[in-house]
Amino acid sequence: MPELPEVEALTAYLSQRLTGRVIAEVQPVAISALKTYDPPVTALAGRTVGAVVRHGKFLDIEAGGLHLVVHLARAGWLRWKEGLPALPPRPGGRNPLALRVRLEGPDAAGFDLTEAGSRKGLAVYVVREAAEVPGVARLGPDPLDPGFDLARFRALLTGERRRIKGVLRDQSVLAGVGNAYSDEVLHAARMSPYKLAADLSPEETARLFEALGTTLREAVERSRGLAAGELKAEKKLGLRVHGRTGQPCPVCGDTVREVSFADSSLQYCPTCQTGGRPLADRRLSRLLK
Ligand SMILES: [Zn+2]
Repeated sequence: MPELPEVEALTAYLSQRLTGRVIAEVQPVAISALKTYDPPVTALAGRTVGAVVRHGKFLDIEAGGLHLVVHLARAGWLRWKEGLPALPPRPGGRNPLALRVRLEGPDAAGFDLTEAGSRKGLAVYVVREAAEVPGVARLGPDPLDPGFDLARFRALLTGERRRIKGVLRDQSVLAGVGNAYSDEVLHAARMSPYKLAADLSPEETARLFEALGTTLREAVERSRGLAAGELKAEKKLGLRVHGRTGQPCPVCGDTVREVSFADSSLQYCPTCQTGGRPLADRRLSRLLK
């Protein structure tokens, strides 16, 4: 799933290509991806793109007072294209194309939103204000916002009785951090994902804040200037523990371990993060009984 750094890079990529261009047509293909009906998608035709911005993991394309807001979810992606045909694409059973945006102009440029697999999470909204999208309205502060400092981070964690891993990826606490970067941030902070947020010492909170900013800024830096098609591979290359179960930790050489849940998993390094002790994995201990 694209998280803050990838969506930030996509935002910059699209901003360069879309700003000042006129939308010729928005063609929904997978109707399930479209979450709003008023204003209709057809209302975007003929409007000029003014800005492309990011809210957490949401992309927001503003055009003539309307906003096309996109959440790529787990398997959604964006492909920039030139020479798009004028005829609408045909919906089909295995066609991953969910929505096409075609621009006016001789290059017939635009982009496709696609979604692979059967888990349909890609969401597209056409609204008058971005905050009309419930997921955007709910967002906590953005960790890359210049005003987001240690005092604000500390305030978010005060009295928070949940495990730090879950807190970091809760979009209403912090905008943009998901399963992958929360693993990376905790590894950089040498902290157990199971630690309760409220139990963090002032020193640990400061270390985690530092790791949060550094990890995200480095990932944004690596992604900057990459084409939309190159971002997924870049994200994978940059990760040190997430998705690397069984591989050596690049910091200490210990083996990266995993804890599995019903619909996700987390990865961590025991030596760097949990004093060398593996975390309890309920699925594993059930198998061993
Ligand atoms: Zn390690």
